[in-house]
Amino acid sequence: MTTKASIVVIGTGGTIAGQGKTTVNTSTYLCSVLGIGELLESIPQVSALANLQAEQLLQTGSENFDNGHLLAIGKRIAELLARNDVDGVVVTHGTDTIEETSYFLHLTLKSAKPVVVVGSMRPPSAMSSDAALNLYDALAVAAHPSSRGLGALVVANSEIHTARDVVKSNSFKLDAFRSPYGALGIVIEGTPRYYRRPARAHTLDTPWSIDTLRTLPKVDIVYAYGALESSAVAAIAKNARGLVFAGTGNGNVAGHLIGPLRDAARRGVRVVRASRTGNGVVLHNAAQPDDEYGWLTVDDQAPLKARLLLTLALTQTDDTNALQAVFERY
Ligand code: GLU
Repeated sequence: MTTKASIVVIGTGGTIAGQGKTTVNTSTYLCSVLGIGELLESIPQVSALANLQAEQLLQTGSENFDNGHLLAIGKRIAELLARNDVDGVVVTHGTDTIEETSYFLHLTLKSAKPVVVVGSMRPPSAMSSDAALNLYDALAVAAHPSSRGLGALVVANSEIHTARDVVKSNSFKLDAFRSPYGALGIVIEGTPRYYRRPARAHTLDTPWSIDTLRTLPKVDIVYAYGALESSAVAAIAKNARGLVFAGTGNGNVAGHLIGPLRDAARRGVRVVRASRTGNGVVLHNAAQPDDEYGWLTVDDQAPLKARLLLTLALTQTDDTNALQAVFERY
């Protein structure tokens, strides 16, 4: 007889905990109202997958999450993963910023136990809601031994994504989550099937531990557009330790913005060129002489992910070569 895995489900709110007036309300509903216990009780099938414990850590839309929320979620998960009687953790979460929380966990948790972050695009009360199946699938993934050692995962629409790559790419469709190189696998009838593994280092193989992180440095993102004024860039750079510049195309920087970004780098702000396309590599020293200007480049990281990586990297070093190496490794 095989013993069932013991999984803790942490509720933080989001659409998966939402409620609309009628079944046709797929977009108009109250977010973050159902408790995690209530949610699990409405899906009795989950008891066949694992021994479950539930706890409500937060109850709010993920658009409200700041660095403090990320630290709080990470620290609670780390406490749970350290226990011998816990085999994995599932976090229910709003889909809006699931890509950020999951990536933060992917880089800072020190465990091979599965951690799955899950949300839904429609509340449980809506017609054809994805809430029940997404949560069922997330539990199936967290409870399965093949999910160990993969870092934080995001489960949605029957797919299993690595937290490093996944982004929310649509505001309302069920099929909203995309990873530029594809999902790691799928979940079907309560069993995960994997077809690839994350190639970049995570969890146990990073230098950042959630247990020792107390505060995070301020890193901002500036999104390039034609009318962006140099004064706006200078104002944002003024109070930041790091700045991700989401440039056009291959991380291009308009002529009038080179000055303020070079000034920022001279003052010690770590400036990273990314692409507002959200996809593809920004090649170092290609479109701009990055080394000459003291700038960094993101490799293939989307600006949101690059912000988190730079935030963590700046907790340990200010050295531009060391920071650039971080972008090549994670
Ligand atoms: N704004 C909500 C959130 O991110 C709803 C989005 C969702 O969960 O799908 O929590």
